[in-house]
Amino acid sequence: MQTTKIDKKIWKISGGKGLSSNIYLVDIEEPTLIDLGSPENSEELLDALKEIGYEPKDIVNVIFTHLHPDHVGQPSKFENAKFFASKEEIEAFEKNPEGAIIFDEAIEELKKIKLKPLGEEIAGMEVIKTPGHTIGSVCLFLKEQKILFSGDTLFGKGVYGRVDLETSVPEKMHSSLEHLKLLKYKILCAGH
Ligand SMILES: [Zn+2]
Repeated sequence: MQTTKIDKKIWKISGGKGLSSNIYLVDIEEPTLIDLGSPENSEELLDALKEIGYEPKDIVNVIFTHLHPDHVGQPSKFENAKFFASKEEIEAFEKNPEGAIIFDEAIEELKKIKLKPLGEEIAGMEVIKTPGHTIGSVCLFLKEQKILFSGDTLFGKGVYGRVDLETSVPEKMHSSLEHLKLLKYKILCAGH
C-alpha cells in the first residue's frame, strides 16, 4: 500500500488489494484511523503505518465511516483502540449482520470488538451524518483545514456512492450531499 501526506499529521494509505477502501490516519488530537480497508490488507496496512512512524498499539481511535466489508479491516490488530461507527450503522449491523455486510470474514472481525456510537465530535473532527449509501454512513470534517473525509458517500464532483445496496436509503442521499456542499471543504478525502 502507498502512503501519501495530505497535510500536517494527516496521511492517506491506499492501493490495497481488491476493492479495499482508502484509509486515513489523522493525528490532530490523538492517533486516529478512518476506516481499515479490506481484512486481507491488514498486514500491509501495519507495514504502511510503520513507515510513517506508528505501531498498532499507538492507535487510539478507529472510526468506521460505515460497516461495509472493504472498510472494516481487522480491527482486533489495534489492541488499544476504541472503535466507533454511527448508532444507526451499529444497530443495522446488530439486527442483521449478513444483510449489512455480506462477507463472513468481515462479520467475524467485527464481532471481536465492541463498537461505540459516535457523538458529534471525535479527535478534533466534526461528525456529519450522511445517510444514503448506508443508513448510518458518516463523513468527518476538519473545520480549520477544511478537509472532508467522505467515506463512500461522495467520491468527487457529481460522483457519489451506490444507493442500491442492502442497507442503503436512497431517498436520503440528496439531502446528505446538499449538507456536504455547505461545508465548502477544500480537500476531499474519499473512501475510494
Ligand atoms: Zn460502502
